[in-house]
Amino acid sequence: MDVKVKFLGAAGTVTGSRFFLEIGSLRVLVDCGLFQGLKENRLRNWETFPIPPETIDIVLLTHAHIDHSGYLPKLVKEGYQGPIYLTEASLELVKILLLDAGKLQEEEAKFARKKGYSKHKNPQPLFTREDAEKVFPKLKPISFDQAVKINDQLSITAYNAGHILGAAILKLQIKGNNQEKSIVFSGDLGRTKDPILNPPAEIPFADVLFLETTYGNRVNESSGIDRKLGKVIRDTYYNGGVSLIPSFAVGRTQMILFYLHRLQQKGFIPQIPIYVDSPMAIDVTSLYKHFPEYHHLGPSLENSNANPFLHKNLHYYRDQESSISLNNIKNNAIIISASGMATGGRILHHLYNRLPNKEDSILFVGYQAEGTRGRRILEGEETCRIYGIDVPVKAKPVYIDGLSAHADQTELVDWCDNFISKPKFTFLIHGEPEAREELAGILKDKLNWNTISPLYMESFLLFSGI
Ligand SMILES: [Zn+2]
Repeated sequence: MDVKVKFLGAAGTVTGSRFFLEIGSLRVLVDCGLFQGLKENRLRNWETFPIPPETIDIVLLTHAHIDHSGYLPKLVKEGYQGPIYLTEASLELVKILLLDAGKLQEEEAKFARKKGYSKHKNPQPLFTREDAEKVFPKLKPISFDQAVKINDQLSITAYNAGHILGAAILKLQIKGNNQEKSIVFSGDLGRTKDPILNPPAEIPFADVLFLETTYGNRVNESSGIDRKLGKVIRDTYYNGGVSLIPSFAVGRTQMILFYLHRLQQKGFIPQIPIYVDSPMAIDVTSLYKHFPEYHHLGPSLENSNANPFLHKNLHYYRDQESSISLNNIKNNAIIISASGMATGGRILHHLYNRLPNKEDSILFVGYQAEGTRGRRILEGEETCRIYGIDVPVKAKPVYIDGLSAHADQTELVDWCDNFISKPKFTFLIHGEPEAREELAGILKDKLNWNTISPLYMESFLLFSGI
């Protein structure tokens, strides 16, 4: 039996994770992500899928992020019939994320039609909410640490990756005619000391490893977050303003809630109300209660005083009216809303309302991509265009770094160091070229590992005649 891989994405980029394996006659797709970011990459979402979807037997998902799951509605629409295996928590998250992505696609197509800026006469969404819903019956939940037999040749096991709720490292155990082999996909790896999620599981052995390299060239200090966050919120409070936090609904919002709760408990910031104004963030937060074994907040989620997601200062605002009512608040409040880079969503009306107030502060708690409103505000632009109006920026923009959900360079190398013997092949994926080059050098220097940096659409024979 032969085993081959073809890189259909996340090869020299951080998005579009999708890897096609042929294990004998079994055709497996690991992750099924959308390309995001640069236009030349995004255009790939519209191309014919390189493997006819109806010929794929199974799909395995490491986690729910759209760059790993967002192509599923299109794959199903174009004929994929088989099951999609993912952890229980990923299953719930992926439903929320795909519906939201479908809605965004529909809105974008509608907007393009209205403005007439698309070169297409009648711009269509890549997929709709209805397409997303057609994925749901195919989702098959698996538990961490339990091998699931797919057929006589393949078993899969998910291990905790600590990146977002439900994120998994996937091990594929392959039984050939004369040999057994294992292939490990790191998925996106989380941090060793995450305040909410458990650290990535240590994997002692793999014949072939697919390693993410997002922060292969960065060391992210996570110390001092309490101090930085606390200072801005205190200063804003004493200035008589409101702290506004644009935040991603998945992972980041929950992390911020954790820190704010801790700061309030320690008395480092005043006991002012915290408003979570994002239906998606609310849905995602409630999943933490459903899946206590997926994080280490543990029993505190039952006790309302010690619960960072349910305490007297915390208010969840789901409907549009309550969201708008927050604009009447002049001081003594913290508002968290999406999207995290201020590219759309409810955060826009908050910014429209808050940016002109010099008493208010805007706290960016995640990476702000080039060209986004978040980036421009942080770079000190004097006005910000929202709803077609140039809004003066008088509020104080602040960047709180260190809140990443990805292992940094040191953590990636340490995770690799846990392998008892080095993998026969290590493919560096899910990273910009500079990140994976630097990591390749360090893995060579420190662990004497030889790695491969595959190209988009490149194929490799992993095992022959096993
Ligand atoms: Zn991810």
